[in-house]
Amino acid sequence: MATALRCGTLIDGTGAAPLRHATLLFEGETITAIDPSGEVPRDAELLDASDLTVMPGMIDCHVHLSSWPQSTQDRLLTPFSLSVATALHHARVTLEAGFTTARDAAGTPRGVKQAIEQGLFPGPRLRLAVSALSQTGGHGDSTMPNGANIRLGNSELPHTVVDGVEAVRRAAREVLRAGADQIKVHTSGGVMSPNDEPGASGFSPEEIAAIVYEARAAGKTVMAHAQATQGIKNAVFGGIHSIEHGIYLDEEAVEGMLQRGTYLVATLVAPLWVIRRAEADPASVPPYALRKAREVMAAHQSSFRMAYQRGVRIAMGTDTGVGPHGTNAEELQLMVQAGMSPMEALVATTRTAAECCRLGHLTGTLEPGKRADLLAVDGNPLDDISLLQDKRRLVLIMRDCKAFKNTLTARAPVSV
Ligand SMILES: [Zn+2]
Repeated sequence: MATALRCGTLIDGTGAAPLRHATLLFEGETITAIDPSGEVPRDAELLDASDLTVMPGMIDCHVHLSSWPQSTQDRLLTPFSLSVATALHHARVTLEAGFTTARDAAGTPRGVKQAIEQGLFPGPRLRLAVSALSQTGGHGDSTMPNGANIRLGNSELPHTVVDGVEAVRRAAREVLRAGADQIKVHTSGGVMSPNDEPGASGFSPEEIAAIVYEARAAGKTVMAHAQATQGIKNAVFGGIHSIEHGIYLDEEAVEGMLQRGTYLVATLVAPLWVIRRAEADPASVPPYALRKAREVMAAHQSSFRMAYQRGVRIAMGTDTGVGPHGTNAEELQLMVQAGMSPMEALVATTRTAAECCRLGHLTGTLEPGKRADLLAVDGNPLDDISLLQDKRRLVLIMRDCKAFKNTLTARAPVSV
């Protein structure tokens, strides 16, 4: 049977001006029409959101469902099976926050995605990186100074600390075999890792070329954790699809991203969470991570501003897992504080994010032929972007036309 959703304000995710009092029509999982006259076909099931703002479900291009704010001791005390169960819980929490799609940037095995696809657990549509490739001593090498490695691989999360063209090629093939939708690689150091610095580049151009070749051969993309200027350039000029974090951008890097259409997934909120965690509980964050988070903050924000002003494609991502799951929408507020209009922040979190995930044919906008992944929000995020952080305002959350949350009927009728 057809469903009709009567909208107060409709933001379609393309960046077009909002429509007032339009009706969205669905059949099966798919949007079939948008009727600007607001009429409801007689035989359709009616959902009345005529006093709400309807917009596409949000998309976070950088989460870690299997990670959460934990001290090193807590990580050592967490068996793999518990981290899988927790990832499924985080998937639900992410959907509850209005995110109907998420790109996982490593750490989550494919069974989590399959369990959601099979309807065993609620969660966003997922694109997984499985394991991230890192050079020895790089951002993904969790060998602690005492020699203990706090993250060992298994058959579902291949060990991917590798060096040399042949070894990275094999590791890329192993993560593809383990179900990766995109390959994640660390082309620079980072904040949360014990042995490197955000300003240090990782992997040689030859190693990056081999990884990009393997991804493309499988019809997939590469996302690069890239903070150092040279690490960003090695990634961009090596043909990588998205730069994650992008802390130390320069003119040449931005120019390369513009020419090649490389996405920036800035994760502005991630270093904030490192600092917040350390302030709330100093033992929860290693001292090296707090120092590095403080050191990168100013450059991170000015690089984002430069990329935005120059017109780099920006897709929203948070690095959630560093901070708590379900708080993803704070990133939109930070993007607006850094210069974006609320509409630009919404497009970065819907259409552009879907394109970055290579899911633009399915989701990210509310147009005929796309899946009905959408939210009905109490209030207008174009007036106040921060209201997306208030889960009580998410009155309807739909993925593939299935209502995960629907309190439309539970609300008091609005008098006209
Ligand atoms: Zn990350």
